[in-house]
Amino acid sequence: MTAQGFVSLVGAGPGDVELITVKGLRRLRAADVVVYDALINEELLRECRSGAERIYAGKRAGAARCSQEAINAILIDKARAGLQVVRLKGGDPFVFGRGGEEAEALQAAGVAWEVVPGVTSAIGAPAYAGIPVTHRAAASSVAFITGHEDPARPETRIDWGALAQGIDTLVFLMGVGRLAVIAGELIAHGRPGDTPTAVVHWGTMPEQVTITGTLATIAGDAARANLTTPATLIVGEVVRLRERLSWFDTLPRLGGRLAEERGLAMYAIHEG
Ligand code: SAH
Repeated sequence: MTAQGFVSLVGAGPGDVELITVKGLRRLRAADVVVYDALINEELLRECRSGAERIYAGKRAGAARCSQEAINAILIDKARAGLQVVRLKGGDPFVFGRGGEEAEALQAAGVAWEVVPGVTSAIGAPAYAGIPVTHRAAASSVAFITGHEDPARPETRIDWGALAQGIDTLVFLMGVGRLAVIAGELIAHGRPGDTPTAVVHWGTMPEQVTITGTLATIAGDAARANLTTPATLIVGEVVRLRERLSWFDTLPRLGGRLAEERGLAMYAIHEG
């Protein structure tokens, strides 16, 4: 009888390698196979055992994207072969990461699995930009929204009116290519054009760039700054807090190694 295979859907966090959870890191270090996505920090793969198989399942310039069916089949086959599989996904596996679909496929195939939540970029990127997504004085509710859906599609599931008027902080993922459309919909549905708005590019990474403006100006501001994917859009009064709470963007950059150097320095303090 072969050993029981197992799949862990592990959240890698938004970028800074130290933002993976203790449990996620333990799973990664123990894995026989790691199936990873484009947006994870590849420095994390150094944590794999030397004999571990690494399978890239994302889209990279020139390469076709692995279909979701193909990824599901790899996870199922490897688990059935008795292997410990880590499916390493950016941010949190169950926040716009198709983790739910993978879990459904594993469940249907009778494969044992678990999910190890991660720090989603929807919270991590604003946090590193000095923007708390809620605040007693500024926001009591927050929504995570895909910016990928085409608002012009008749079957859109986004209720723009409810978002524009009913939720304090709006965090859009996958929306950087559609800033003008998203801002236009929110304004058309009653959100004031002067609502503070930010875009955080490569949040939590040394390359992090944050721009701020208003709902009316943000598309132009981002275009002028040449901000591309990956980026997170934050709309709401909490964005104003950045004026006082910006911490990461103001740290000195040490040859692009900022985040890790700081982390190591802190460990040195604790261990010393
Ligand atoms: N499961 C992931 C989201 C996957 S969708 C999570 O929980 O974070 C991919 C989108 O996440 C990107 O288009 C971008 O909007 C956002 N994103 C991922 N990494 C990011 C980062 N380092 N900074 C800003 N946004 C990021």
